[in-house]
Amino acid sequence: MDYNLLVPSKIVRSKRHSISLIINNNNELIVRAPLKCAEKAIYDFIYQKSEWIVKKRAELKSHSYAPLKAISGEKIPILDNIYEIMLYDKSRVKLVNNIIYLPKVNSSKNLLSYIKKFTKNYLAKRVEEIAKTFNFKYKDIKISSARTRWGSCNYLNSLSFTYKLILCPKTVVDYIIIHELSHTIEKNHSKKFWNKVKTCCPNYKESEHWLKENRQIINLI
Ligand SMILES: [Zn+2]
Repeated sequence: MDYNLLVPSKIVRSKRHSISLIINNNNELIVRAPLKCAEKAIYDFIYQKSEWIVKKRAELKSHSYAPLKAISGEKIPILDNIYEIMLYDKSRVKLVNNIIYLPKVNSSKNLLSYIKKFTKNYLAKRVEEIAKTFNFKYKDIKISSARTRWGSCNYLNSLSFTYKLILCPKTVVDYIIIHELSHTIEKNHSKKFWNKVKTCCPNYKESEHWLKENRQIINLI
């Protein structure tokens, strides 16, 4: 066990009768205790709850998706890789060995337009490949900045995907593509629709599960 995780960030004493623990959104352990409560009683209480604390803090850590900053050292998950940002003095964005070199000037804007372009190229190619494999017909694809959904398919069979999709693993991206392509045949979420999805993507439930668990990733960029 990592005992550092059991060190409280703050002990708040007040007129109360019992000790309580919370882990706040910044992943800090906050203890509330009665005014005259002995220090030992507080630490005994923490150790009693150690399993819960460690589990909870680990969970929070894996789900903390604070918006990314366009600064050196920041890491971005893209498809199945982790890319690192490095600011530099040139004026062009370039990618070398998992390092995204970003001009210092307008770094956030440059990062965003780079990711959007990267996503568009990747999805255009991948949608075409998958459509060909499973014999789907679609009109075209658009890249959006949607914050609440990964993709959509309209009545003209024009597909739209948020650029944030690039933060997901490749298998999950493939599932979303198959999901939207299946809507070219079935516009609803009927049994027939899910059967179609399953034929093309037998493990789609794993991807659904991943998306549910990692919902917050959409807020990263
Ligand atoms: Zn759908």
